[in-house]
Amino acid sequence: MLAENLSQVEERIHAACARAGRSRSSVTLIAVTKVFPAQAILDAYALGLRDFGENYVQEFDAKAPTLPGLPGARFHLIGHLQSNKSRRAAELFQVIQTVDSPKLAQRIQEQACGPMEVFLEVKLSAEEAKHGAPPEELPQLMEAVRGCSRLALSGLMTMPPWSEDPEQSRPYFRRLRELAEAHHLPALSMGMSNDFEAAIEEGATHIRVGTALFGRRVKR
Ligand SMILES: *Cc1c(COP(=O)(O)O)cnc(C)c1O
Repeated sequence: MLAENLSQVEERIHAACARAGRSRSSVTLIAVTKVFPAQAILDAYALGLRDFGENYVQEFDAKAPTLPGLPGARFHLIGHLQSNKSRRAAELFQVIQTVDSPKLAQRIQEQACGPMEVFLEVKLSAEEAKHGAPPEELPQLMEAVRGCSRLALSGLMTMPPWSEDPEQSRPYFRRLRELAEAHHLPALSMGMSNDFEAAIEEGATHIRVGTALFGRRVKR
C-alpha cells in the first residue's frame, strides 16, 4: 500500500515538475510520519525515501531509539519547537524547519552538537497559524541566524490555512517564493498532500507529504 501510494505521489510530482519545466531532482520529498509508528519510517526508507518529517519532539524521541542506523536518512522537525525542547531537538534532528525567533535560533546554536540546517517559518496569514515569523521580521531573524555559527540557513517554510482547494494555497506559496527571492534564500519548504502540485509550480524545493503516503492519521 505504501509502495502504491508512493508511486502515485511520484507521478504527481513528475507531472507538476513537467508543467513547471523543472527537474524532478529539484524537489525533495519529505515523508511526514507524525502519529505513525517507527515502522512507517522503516517501510519508507526501504522504498528509497531518505527525508522524514516529524512534528513533535517528544513523539520522535520515543520512536528514534527503536530505529536502527539508517545511513543517509535526514530527520526534519516541521512542528513548532518550544524552547524547553530545543536541546533534545538539536540531538534528534538534522534539520529544524520551524525557527521563528532570534531567541529560538540562539538556543539551538547553544545546544547543537554540530552544524544544524534550519528553515525560517513564516506566518503569511493572520488567521489560524499560531507560529511563524511575520514577513517584516525576516531581516532581523536572518541576521540573528547568520550570527549563529552552527546554524546553516537554507530557506523559508510556511503552512497556508488548510483548504480543500489547492488553488487557495497558491497565493501563499507565491508570496513565500517572492520573500525567499528578495532575501536570496534558495530553499522553499511548502506544499502538503493536497496542494503540493501548486507548491511545486510555485517553486517548492521541499514538499512535506503525510496522508498521501501513509493514509489518514487517526488521533491517538
Ligand atoms: C502534518 C503536516 C504535514 C503533512 O500533511 P499531510 O496533509 O498529511 O500531507 C506537512 N507539514 C506540516 C507542518 C504538518 O504538520
